[in-house]
Amino acid sequence: MHCPFCSAGDTRVVDSRLSNPDTVRRRRECVSCGERFTTYEKAELNMPRVIKGDGSREPFNEEKLCSGLSKALEKRPVETQKIDDSINEIKHKLLASGEREITTGLIGELVMDALKKLDHVAYIRFASVYLSFDDVDAFRQAIDKLDTTK
Ligand SMILES: [Zn+2]
Repeated sequence: MHCPFCSAGDTRVVDSRLSNPDTVRRRRECVSCGERFTTYEKAELNMPRVIKGDGSREPFNEEKLCSGLSKALEKRPVETQKIDDSINEIKHKLLASGEREITTGLIGELVMDALKKLDHVAYIRFASVYLSFDDVDAFRQAIDKLDTTK
């Protein structure tokens, strides 16, 4: 953290306390000029925005994620709880990535990973739609990945 007074690169924390449940207030002192200032630190927990195939951006849409998974898992013997857990796991990974923007491709891969663990039929269903049939190689690779997990 640079000193806002003299721009020195080194400041030390003299006091640190929670100012509200999700914000830490820190008193800092510049090692160089001795000025003190306060910083507020907050975890950034916004879902990243989604970069679509055509380069346009849109807000992350949890419903789309859920409907993609449910469509693949339609009439498959998978507990709803497990589906919910997978959705939370995917959201957690996206948050934990710390990225402000992610591609639909990355979400697709996370969904494929989740389905691979949940149900192989659903995984293949999703892969066939998501990777599309014109990309036979990608589809082949997806099937190969399935074999190595056994
Ligand atoms: Zn300073």
